[in-house]
Amino acid sequence: MTAMEITQLKENLLELLENLDRKNLDFLKTQEEVTQQKGDEIDLVESESQSKLLLRFNGRSNKYIKKLRSTLDRIDAGEFGICADCGAPIENKRLQARPTATLCIHCKEEQENVERNIFSEKKKTSAIWDCNQL
Ligand SMILES: [Zn+2]
Repeated sequence: MTAMEITQLKENLLELLENLDRKNLDFLKTQEEVTQQKGDEIDLVESESQSKLLLRFNGRSNKYIKKLRSTLDRIDAGEFGICADCGAPIENKRLQARPTATLCIHCKEEQENVERNIFSEKKKTSAIWDCNQL
């Protein structure tokens, strides 16, 4: 990516981050309002499941916010667009689609293959184990 593209991307990320922060603030306000409005008559089960749902949503967006922040750090450190594993530049297309990517497509595929292998390895082991049981 050119320096100009990276600057543009940084602006986009900052804007996104600001929006998410605002949403989080709204979320906190909503939660407060729910508690205040219902007060003593609050239906405990209902309010509990509601805050659980809100918390789950919040947890997910917090994770994303962390990812965005670390991406911005990488931009500032001049490490943006470099694969954290092999050090090769990450493909432009990939960065545009997923600016928070830290691995190039090859390393990502390798990582996914390893995960798949571990999974099928586990399956094999359990199959043998099943046979021994018989
Ligand atoms: Zn790589």
